[in-house]
Amino acid sequence: MAEQLIGAIEAGGTKMVCAVGTADGKVLDRASYPTRTPEETLPDLVGYFKDKDIVALGLAAFGPVAVNPSDPRFGRILNTPKIAWQNYDFMGELKRALNVPVGIDTDVNGACLGEITFGAAHGLTDVIYITVGTGIGVGVCIGGQMLHGMLHPEAGHVAVQRAEGDTVPSTCHCHDSCFEGVAAGPAVQLRLGEDNNILSNDPAVLEQEADYLAQGLATYVLCYSPQRIILGGGVPDHTPELMPLVRKKTLEKLNGYLSTPELDNIDTYIVAPSLDGNQGVLGSIELGRRALEAAC
Ligand code: ZN
Repeated sequence: MAEQLIGAIEAGGTKMVCAVGTADGKVLDRASYPTRTPEETLPDLVGYFKDKDIVALGLAAFGPVAVNPSDPRFGRILNTPKIAWQNYDFMGELKRALNVPVGIDTDVNGACLGEITFGAAHGLTDVIYITVGTGIGVGVCIGGQMLHGMLHPEAGHVAVQRAEGDTVPSTCHCHDSCFEGVAAGPAVQLRLGEDNNILSNDPAVLEQEADYLAQGLATYVLCYSPQRIILGGGVPDHTPELMPLVRKKTLEKLNGYLSTPELDNIDTYIVAPSLDGNQGVLGSIELGRRALEAAC
């Protein structure tokens, strides 16, 4: 019997990555489409999968998105700044067009699931995945389940303590000193100034960025008690100096309050993503596999 094919969509604010793969984590084909309005974008997505003979689809979507099945809005994009997508029944439309079971989660929960199923957190049940790019998104897995709660975690917006003299405006429109507002890519760029866009070239800003990241991570260690933390996204991916600094500063923030074998091995506790940028697609495949299993 031919291997069953599972579809994956990593739905981002600027592009939609579509892929087809198998439950054991092979990605066989992929394509990418610009994110436009839902009416313009859906035909691209449906067109890609139409002749691929998939048996299920996993959707890891930008948020906020209703991912809890008990939510009456389940499967819909919620109050995003992308007006055309507000209240759009993304999962429902795909299900109707493709007629296969569809599993949905947030983009960061999808990436976290990819690392748990196939990557740096394989075999673990309590894992945090953080992406630091244009924003800060956090995927959370607790006891082997992706954490949703009433909506889904928005842990990129926890408060951090600003460094003395740091008066650079927050890039978050809701909070003056949240993690994303002071530490995501746009905030880093404001600190670096117009003439420099390489964080490694500015030791003071690098040090401060590591400090803010460590504040966020220490908070997650205390609240979620993860077995491993995966730190990815454009900012850390392009700044190799950050990881060792963040590890050191996270331990400094915790200041000896916790003692665990995991924290004793900090280099294997806070790690980079391991799937060559495929963590979102692979997590989506796993979401599709789970949706198929639930439907059988
Ligand atoms: Zn915020």
